[in-house]
Amino acid sequence: MLRQLPLAAWATIAALGYAAYYSLACWIYPFTNCGKCKGDGKLRSPSGRNFRLCKRCKATGRRLRVGRQVWNWIHHMHHDSTGGVQ
Ligand SMILES: [Zn+2]
Repeated sequence: MLRQLPLAAWATIAALGYAAYYSLACWIYPFTNCGKCKGDGKLRSPSGRNFRLCKRCKATGRRLRVGRQVWNWIHHMHHDSTGGVQ
């Protein structure tokens, strides 16, 4: 029976599986290193002695992952739709 599933069905199952895995990963590990400062929170001068704070991550060195941003966005929309009715 399983052998008779068309390729599109397998692709869908694989995509759903990956989406579930990615959602879980974003839930457990919501942050990733800032791409600009590599998670350091500082941008060093060429000499390495001086630095300035990274503006992109507000010197935290971390960025919210895209998957978690989407989750927050959906959560926010849901919150607005249920709590914002006057
Ligand atoms: Zn940064």
